[in-house]
Amino acid sequence: MDAISARSTIIDSRARQRGYGTQPPLQRFLQSCHDEFSADNSGALADYIPELTRANPSHFGISVATIDGHVYEIGDSNVPFTIQSVSKAFVFALALDLLGPERVEAAIGVEPSGEAFNSIRLTPDNKPFNPMVNAGAIACSGLIYQVEGANAYERIRQTLGRFAGRDLDVDEQVYLSERATGNRNRAIAWLLHNYAVVQSDVDAVLDTYFKQCAVLVTARDLAIMAATLANRGVNPVTGDHVIAPHTVASVLSVMTSSGMYDYAGEWIYRVGIPAKSGVGGGIVAALPSQIGLGTFSPCLDSHGNSVRGLKVCEALSARFNLHMLNRSADVRTCIIADYDISSVSSRRSRQPHEQQILEERHDDIRVIEMVGALNFAAIDYITRRLADTQPNAPLLILDFRRVPNVSAAGARLFGENLTILGNIGVTAILTGFDSGSEVLKSLYAFIEKTSRVRQFQLLDDAIEWAEDQVIYRHGGFTNTVETTHLSEQALLSNLTEDEIATLTRFSTTRYYQAGAKIIGAGEPANSIFFIQRGMVSVKLPSGVRLASLGPGMEFGEMAMINRERTADVWADTPVQCLEVPLDELVDYGMLFPTISLHIARNLAALLARRLVLANAKVDLLSSY
Ligand code: GLN
Repeated sequence: MDAISARSTIIDSRARQRGYGTQPPLQRFLQSCHDEFSADNSGALADYIPELTRANPSHFGISVATIDGHVYEIGDSNVPFTIQSVSKAFVFALALDLLGPERVEAAIGVEPSGEAFNSIRLTPDNKPFNPMVNAGAIACSGLIYQVEGANAYERIRQTLGRFAGRDLDVDEQVYLSERATGNRNRAIAWLLHNYAVVQSDVDAVLDTYFKQCAVLVTARDLAIMAATLANRGVNPVTGDHVIAPHTVASVLSVMTSSGMYDYAGEWIYRVGIPAKSGVGGGIVAALPSQIGLGTFSPCLDSHGNSVRGLKVCEALSARFNLHMLNRSADVRTCIIADYDISSVSSRRSRQPHEQQILEERHDDIRVIEMVGALNFAAIDYITRRLADTQPNAPLLILDFRRVPNVSAAGARLFGENLTILGNIGVTAILTGFDSGSEVLKSLYAFIEKTSRVRQFQLLDDAIEWAEDQVIYRHGGFTNTVETTHLSEQALLSNLTEDEIATLTRFSTTRYYQAGAKIIGAGEPANSIFFIQRGMVSVKLPSGVRLASLGPGMEFGEMAMINRERTADVWADTPVQCLEVPLDELVDYGMLFPTISLHIARNLAALLARRLVLANAKVDLLSSY
């Protein structure tokens, strides 16, 4: 081998290593399960449906779908096989949504039977034990047939397809094969008819059931179907809302107690993930709010569960501690910041006397920033934290910007707490919601009309509003129509009357209507504005507000440093200001150096104050 090809071989093998090394750990783990369990050839193909014996016993596919819609796939994850009993969980879901739980529960129980899936035994009151065994599943198809008639199968096929995120077909051969031989199921159906559980058209109901069992899926499909259950009924790949969230809990319950036939108790003890298997060799397992797993390997154990599929589920659960009862949480992490306004203020610049009131009354405003999904325990913790400072701050700002959802139980506790606080005079200000926010809707369902609750989209607006309340309550409300004199400008402090008069001669009084844009980012910066009446907002072109300013304050002062405007300034109200051209100021400064020195010093002091505030904010947030 010459030097160049030797070198490229080394590079190749490094690249391969890198490729493997950057594989996500879950993909690597599933790959190692596949490698290891492929060697297990135990178990046997289901043969009571003759067509199933044509399956290839070496097929082995694994797929995991996450609730954010990522799909991992290993081996024969795209080989189609018949869904069989795995359909039972999803058809039960459809029956619940279509007929309502009362009608479904009147016909089918939810007790584990402890018997094989094809047992003909019913409960003492002649109902199928649960919808995960054949009797219950046939009853379920019967219920759907009651509503949909001849369209029942098509409705089921479409629903299974929505769970999988693609249109599914039937395997005609398997369907015909089971129809020709399925006398045991036929006996179960007629027995159910005898007890009026299956009401009419027994053959048509059986046909619906046989056909639903022969729908073709892949391990990948099963993973996405499971992930839809794990994701509260919303398919994480397509975004389709397939079934209602409360239906999901009912389906997962019976999967937990009865999904693996007479192995269910052992399964929930060892694996602890709601699951359902089928004699086609498929298993679905759904871990709520985490992942969906789909496996395919057609050799079955004596219970009718896929041998390799079971092993994958057991290994995954053991390796990553996924047992659904094995959970831990620290509710204390749900508050990321808790402060009053001594270190953080709104972006609205205040007059000195306003500032003084805010400094004295800084603990009248409490801000709590929360993070993560808030459940019952997290909200309980928050309500206790709220009570730990007495007296309560009269203005309580609760920032939900980093809260993706609040559970119904949490929302109820929260609403009750806001009502109690409202009764003792605390105004709650909720922030951080987009319009149409689900979190906000869930909270308002439990907030009584009498509560004192206000709502702002942005935290900064909420702080500004709360500051206004404090200033107003303590007699410091500023009249923004009052005209101020240039000597009140912070930037011009220490200038003599004469010097100010000279400066005024160079300037022009400007008037703007509310809503007018006074300066725009990117424009040449060659003047400073001193506000005499009204309010302006300094905003980035994106609309983010940097500051709100009123009489006695200036804007455009950065022109002394930067020759281009860095932000837009808008008139919030009718505005009057004095515009001082910068070139004149510079010329004037050259004639009277002390004046330009004063202004430069004042500017430096202003910038330093802004920096101190910005640092305080950074420091506060990073200390949590
Ligand atoms: N169609 C099959 C039957 O009714 C389904 C059984 C199963 O997958 N466990 O027997």
